[in-house]
Amino acid sequence: MDNNKRYNAIGGYLKDKFGCRIIKLSLDGGFTCPNRDGTLSSKGCIFCSQGGSGNYASSRHLNIQDQIDSQIQLLKTKWPNGKYMAYFQNYTNTYADVKILREVYYNALASPSVIGLAIATRPDCLSAEILELLSELNDKTYLWVELGLQTIHEKTAQLINRGYTLKVFESALKKLNQRKILTVIHLIFGFPGETKYEILQSIQYLSSKNIFGIKIHLLHVLKNTQLCQLYVQGKINTLSKKEYIELVADALEYLSPKITVHRLTGDAPRSMLIAPKWSTDKKSVLNGIDAELKRRNSYQGKHL
Ligand code: SF4
Repeated sequence: MDNNKRYNAIGGYLKDKFGCRIIKLSLDGGFTCPNRDGTLSSKGCIFCSQGGSGNYASSRHLNIQDQIDSQIQLLKTKWPNGKYMAYFQNYTNTYADVKILREVYYNALASPSVIGLAIATRPDCLSAEILELLSELNDKTYLWVELGLQTIHEKTAQLINRGYTLKVFESALKKLNQRKILTVIHLIFGFPGETKYEILQSIQYLSSKNIFGIKIHLLHVLKNTQLCQLYVQGKINTLSKKEYIELVADALEYLSPKITVHRLTGDAPRSMLIAPKWSTDKKSVLNGIDAELKRRNSYQGKHL
């Protein structure tokens, strides 16, 4: 584990692996999502913003190489010796013809400073030919695939209009595991009606699976989302900072120490965030989690 952390933070893991700081470049591959374009639904997940849950990606009007170059230009002063992973974050980044996907991914890898690819997608958007392409990329570069599971509970999945069942996730994970492709799974804490016990069940479920990493997000209410309508009508609440910090500490205690931790806070732009406002101070949330683990004399996997 990273010496400064009581959990297996991805930053330290990648630094050990590559010998330098690895920074993710958020790219926009120009894709959409079957849960928004009318294929499965035109509403999307209830928390999903207009940007497809990736609000920091570069402009989709730039080609991939220009997106990479402009971001590296900004970052290289801060990390002159850093290397980069091309991160396709917003919308569903395997939702296109395989020829288009091949072009987009290889364009990203063409930059000499890019050492790998992180591809965020839905488990129901991994056809046999796309898995073949991912397998090919996995042989050539450092790759992980991110899946937005959010919860293992079907009642919550329906409430948030996720549009696929846990079985679909399990089947996709199995196929990625068979191809030795690393996976990073997203969970969101704070859905309406989901108890602490149920949230910890999602964590224990993932701890029992062969996954490489986890991203834990706080449920954010963003402007122009279905969640925002519910919030404005007074039908839902958001977590307090104390509740969230304690919940994340609980979750880490039940998380296998083998699993790398990629995120423990939300990351919503201030201009879009309706609630909870305390979440804009990410540093204070992360420090709060560290302090809570220290106070408990605890660490990732303590209860396993
Ligand atoms: S799968 Fe992702 S992009 Fe699609 S609606 Fe849900 S959060 Fe938005």
